[in-house]
Amino acid sequence: MASIDNFNFAGKKAIVRVDFNVPLNEDGTIADDTRIRGALPTLKKILDDGGALILMSHMGKPKGKVNEKLSLLQIRDAVAKALGRDVKFAPDCAKAKEAADNLKPGEVLLLENLRFYPEEEGKPVGIDKNDPAYEEAKKEMKERQKEFAKTLASYADVYVNDAFGTAHRKHASTAVIADYFDAQDKMLGFLMEKEVNAVDKILKDIKRPFTAIMGGSKVSTKIGIIENLMDKVDNLILCGGMTYTFAKAMGGNIGNSICEEDKLDLALDIMKKAKEKGVNLVLGSDCVAADRFANDADTQICSAMEIPEGWMGMDAGPDSIIQFRDAIKPSKTILWNGPAGVFEMEKFTTGSKAIADAIAEATADGAFSLVGGGDSVSCINKFGLADDVSYVSTGGGALLEAIEGKTLPGIAAIKQ
Ligand code: AMP
Repeated sequence: MASIDNFNFAGKKAIVRVDFNVPLNEDGTIADDTRIRGALPTLKKILDDGGALILMSHMGKPKGKVNEKLSLLQIRDAVAKALGRDVKFAPDCAKAKEAADNLKPGEVLLLENLRFYPEEEGKPVGIDKNDPAYEEAKKEMKERQKEFAKTLASYADVYVNDAFGTAHRKHASTAVIADYFDAQDKMLGFLMEKEVNAVDKILKDIKRPFTAIMGGSKVSTKIGIIENLMDKVDNLILCGGMTYTFAKAMGGNIGNSICEEDKLDLALDIMKKAKEKGVNLVLGSDCVAADRFANDADTQICSAMEIPEGWMGMDAGPDSIIQFRDAIKPSKTILWNGPAGVFEMEKFTTGSKAIADAIAEATADGAFSLVGGGDSVSCINKFGLADDVSYVSTGGGALLEAIEGKTLPGIAAIKQ
């Protein structure tokens, strides 16, 4: 596999799959440019070498149709500013051959939203999955996807994938396109390499003790990860809304707390497996219960097993926080996914903040800490601690699938 570090892009045209799916404000301005900044090391390396850049990305979910509200034209100026040079724009990503051919070294061309074409995702549109003709339509779309990928590939000499956020999708621009480049002409970008290395530290290069903190609302969406981690971790902290599914499974009274009634057996099974494997399963013993799902609700501290009728567990309690800290502080490898409470409401941030603080302290003591997957990233940013952990992943679903041990198509396509 080629490596971006050693590759000389001088005189080459590089097509780079970036993740410019940035959140926009109502007026089309960029609300958060983290993703644009994240791509800069790769883009600057190519330009500094004397290469030309063709940038491609998706934005939002236009479902295979042109949607001006999701046009990448809206971010062209921001990209130009970040790169410190003009950025040309190709309003139709599948008809940009001439614009690409005309690019000179040091020039940049941004293609319009790839998902304006259904071929990007490769899923048939306007036909129900249960329709007898669906399979045929899917086959036909896969062929069209190959053609679309081939067109994109025809713009450049080199393919670079730096979009970790979509690495778990087998789309035209994230995976299929790689088939049209020789092994020495396709590679991962710097951001992608960083993500892959961070995941390797959690899954392969583990320094002990290893503590995983899984929170969020439901156990069902995290089960694949919990199972994969069970063979690797020393401590497994399960917090957030899933606490109450476990409490109920153990015969506790959980009042109106969030609970997955059909996952009670699963919860007991996880507890059994943890015991068999010698994993220290940490379930918070107490919680902050509220009489309503609201920031101005009345609250009380109670056992997670004895929540009064009509009340609901909204955050980890003080004893739980001590349990969490005791496990996190001496750890040398830490993974955090999912908040310990309804952190969007100021009153219920304490548990998540305590976890973030403990991770930051352990990191200062030499631990490797990876924070990833949607809400925990919002948490760490909200608490201003992003620079105090080892790595904050940019990939939600992709990170979770990687930690589950699944092969990501975007990475496999390049490594093949
Ligand atoms: P997830 O997407 O599964 O990681 O869940 C994140 C969401 O879980 C956040 O929006 C939190 O507000 C929510 N959450 C965390 N703790 C609780 C709780 N005790 N009750 C209800 N929702 C919770």
